[in-house]
Amino acid sequence: MKQLPFVYHKKILVLGLAKSGTVAAELLHDLGAFVTVNDSKPFEQNENAQYLLTKGLTVICGSHPEDLLDEGFNLIVKNPGIPYTNSVVAEAIKRGIPVWTEVELAYRISDAPMIGITGSNGKTTTTTLIYEMLNHASKQPLIAGNIGTVASGVAEKATADNTIVMELSSFQLMGTEQLKPKISVLMNLYEAHLDYHKDYQEYTDAKFNITKMQDENDWFVYNAEQQLVQDYADKSQAQKVPFYVSKKTANGISADDQFVYWNGEQLFERSIIALRGKHNLENVLAATAVAILSDCSLESIKFVLQTFQGVRHRTQFVLESDGRKFYNDSKATNTLATKSALEGFSEPVVWIAGGVDRGHSFDQLIPYLPNVRALVHYGETAERLQKFGEENHIPFVKRVSNLEEATRLAVEVSEKGDIILLSPACASWDQYESFEIRGDEFIKVVESLTNN
Ligand code: ADP
Repeated sequence: MKQLPFVYHKKILVLGLAKSGTVAAELLHDLGAFVTVNDSKPFEQNENAQYLLTKGLTVICGSHPEDLLDEGFNLIVKNPGIPYTNSVVAEAIKRGIPVWTEVELAYRISDAPMIGITGSNGKTTTTTLIYEMLNHASKQPLIAGNIGTVASGVAEKATADNTIVMELSSFQLMGTEQLKPKISVLMNLYEAHLDYHKDYQEYTDAKFNITKMQDENDWFVYNAEQQLVQDYADKSQAQKVPFYVSKKTANGISADDQFVYWNGEQLFERSIIALRGKHNLENVLAATAVAILSDCSLESIKFVLQTFQGVRHRTQFVLESDGRKFYNDSKATNTLATKSALEGFSEPVVWIAGGVDRGHSFDQLIPYLPNVRALVHYGETAERLQKFGEENHIPFVKRVSNLEEATRLAVEVSEKGDIILLSPACASWDQYESFEIRGDEFIKVVESLTNN
């Protein structure tokens, strides 16, 4: 781990604890900083704050007091979830106090090179693919960031022999200054998180931070088929590796119907790729480019592509029984994600959907409905999904009361050769705590129905 001289004996405020704030606060304390933590959760219910108090940090809980900044902090490290409109953050910026997110700290202390992955969709899948490829090629990767392992905790332990493979959200990227991945990846840009960002421009600018500090010794892998991404790529100083899923090209990584190409040379047949769908082809091309740039063997890359069945809850292959294949896409909490899933199947689909009703339209799915043999649905959206299914002539549409019933009925109405797909197009909170718990329940029900 690198020491940070400018942190030693400096006053630092860690704003918002959760997992990443707690790790960052303890790390800064160990680096010799005078750390104050501030979290809105009251002290009595705040295990992280209680723990940090025992370590000798100053703890302020229950609110974000306006006069907090009168302490004269040199730096603020904020939880990515706290927006820039938060009064303390806004005031700090006004006073010229640097405000970082925890990934900047991770970057600054890390002895290991970093691969950073961002985009509106496909981050977790691409990050995991890269990790698996590097791991199979014995490159000692460590996975970190938005994917669930706190970046600075990983960076603290990393050595120069490791490579940190880091998933980065726009929230995390907004608070970076020097963060400079050796290889960065920008998957795509869609309208998202507009409840957090001021506008779409601010959101896409935050994504651009992934390559902002890169220079000619670094690489930028990006989706060249999206004009906006290409526009950002034009501004990057890094060596560019564009990816194209719909045509063979002479530069970058590309695919036609049959093959994947690296700078126009055939790499492998598309048929070896276990993951389904055009969206996953984007993820595969980006990950393969990164693995090539990281000197992984083609054998390692192909091994992962042949065996990787998807990240849990993301169009994840569950099992095959009696000629039916079951897929869990519980992470599809909106129409766009379900569109990606339906687009990926040419076989007849029995589709299980429904959940929280955010009032969004399902119309983007209409082009993919000719493949849908049946729609079994439940949850708050029941009335709207029933109408949507009937109006668009899905042969069998039925409302049930929960996911277990829906899965049973889906099996009953399915035929050999069908795909049985949970892709809710809705959030889970009307019946579940999270999409993970919903997906786990689906897998459990599938396993019990198939005695697997
Ligand atoms: P993220 O981490 O960016 O949320 P994930 O890899 O977890 O992305 O995938 C979430 C959902 O988004 C998947 O279930 C899939 O339906 C969809 N998806 C995955 N990759 C892409 C992509 N490259 N383009 C569009 N949609 C995608």
